[in-house]
Amino acid sequence: MEENRRVLLICTGGTIGMVRTERGYVPKAGSLANRMAKMPQFQDPAGPARCVPPSRFGTRVQYEIMEYVPLKDSSNLGVSDWVRVAEDITRHYDEYDAFVVVHGTDTMAYTASALSFMLENLSKTVIVTGSQLPLSEVRNDAIDNLLGAITLAGNYTIPEVCLFFHNKLLRGNRARKVDAAHLDAFDSGNLAPLARMGINVEVAAHLLLPPPTSPLHLRPIQERHVACLRLFPGLTEAILKNLLTPPVRGLVLETFGAGNAPDNRPELLNALREASERGVVIVNCTQCHRGSVSTDYASGLALKEAQVVGGADMTVEAALTKLAWLLSDETLSAEQVRAQIGVNLRGEITGRWQGAPAIFQENLKS
Ligand code: ASP
Repeated sequence: MEENRRVLLICTGGTIGMVRTERGYVPKAGSLANRMAKMPQFQDPAGPARCVPPSRFGTRVQYEIMEYVPLKDSSNLGVSDWVRVAEDITRHYDEYDAFVVVHGTDTMAYTASALSFMLENLSKTVIVTGSQLPLSEVRNDAIDNLLGAITLAGNYTIPEVCLFFHNKLLRGNRARKVDAAHLDAFDSGNLAPLARMGINVEVAAHLLLPPPTSPLHLRPIQERHVACLRLFPGLTEAILKNLLTPPVRGLVLETFGAGNAPDNRPELLNALREASERGVVIVNCTQCHRGSVSTDYASGLALKEAQVVGGADMTVEAALTKLAWLLSDETLSAEQVRAQIGVNLRGEITGRWQGAPAIFQENLKS
C-alpha cells in the first residue's frame, strides 16, 4: 500500500534556481518550480502534480513549493530572513511531514545554525540544501542535492535541522562551507555525517538527536548586535576596542589553534576584560576546522581570566547564531548567557546534550 509523505519546500533563492544573465547568475522567480515540473526525478508522470516517483519502499513524496519574493542570493540574507523561514516552518508544521529549505550555499551554514536554535523541540526533519551549479545548467549538482534532500526528508524522521550536500547529511549547526569551487562544498569538522547517500542510504542513528517530549516552540532571534573577529598577529588595541564599543553585545573571538591569544599583550586582554565587565559576552572559538578550544596553554588561560567564555568545538556559525539567540532572551543576564554558551543545546557541541546520556565518537573525521 503506497503512502504519500508531504514535504514543504521553502525556496529562499541561491544558485540552485538561478539563470545566467549578462551580469552573471541571478535568481529567477518560478525557474526552479517550472524546471522541476518537467523533470522525471521530481514529477511522476503517473502521479498528481509535484509528486516524485515512488521510492523503493513504496513511499511517494508529495511536495508543495513556497517561493519567497524576492528570491535572494544568500549573501543578501539576514536575521529577518532566518526568522521568516522559522515562522513559516512553525506556521505549517502540522500540515507537512518534513521541510526542505532551498538556499544559497554562501551563508547556508549560518541559516541552518540559526534555525536549529530558534526551532525548539523539533520533532520533524528540516533539511537545508542548495547547489554550486544551477538546475538550469545541463551539468549540475542541483538534481542530486534537491532529490537527496527531498528523499531523506520524505522517508526518514531525523528530528533536527540538517544540511544536505554532495550525498552527505550534516547536522546544520556543525556544517561549514569549505569549498568555493568544488561540489563537495560542505563539511562538518567535528561530527561525522548523520547520513550518507550512496547505493544505499546509511543513517548514523547513534548520532541523531533524541526526539523531543514537548511541542515545537519558536524562539526567534532578535538581537543583531553580535560580531565575529578573527584574531591575527598584530591586532591593535584601537581596533579591538572599537569593535567592543556599544552597541555590540556579543563577540565570537576566533582564536589560534586550541583557543589561544597573545598573553604578552595586556592591553588586548584588558580591553576584553573591560568589555566583559560591561556585559558584553565574548566567546572563544578556534579558527581551525577541527578540534576544540581549551585552557591547556597559558595563552588560552589568559582569555578565560579576561572572562572570555569557551565555545568548546562549536563552529563560528553556530557560536554566532547561538549568541544572538541567547542574547535575544531579555530575561537572561550576561552571566546566564555565558553559562548557556557552553551547554550543548542542539548537538552543536560534542558531548552531552541536556537530559541525554554522553555520546562518545570514535571517528570524528568524515
Ligand atoms: N552566491 C550564491 C548564494 O549563496 C552561491 C550559491 O548558492 O552557491 O546564494
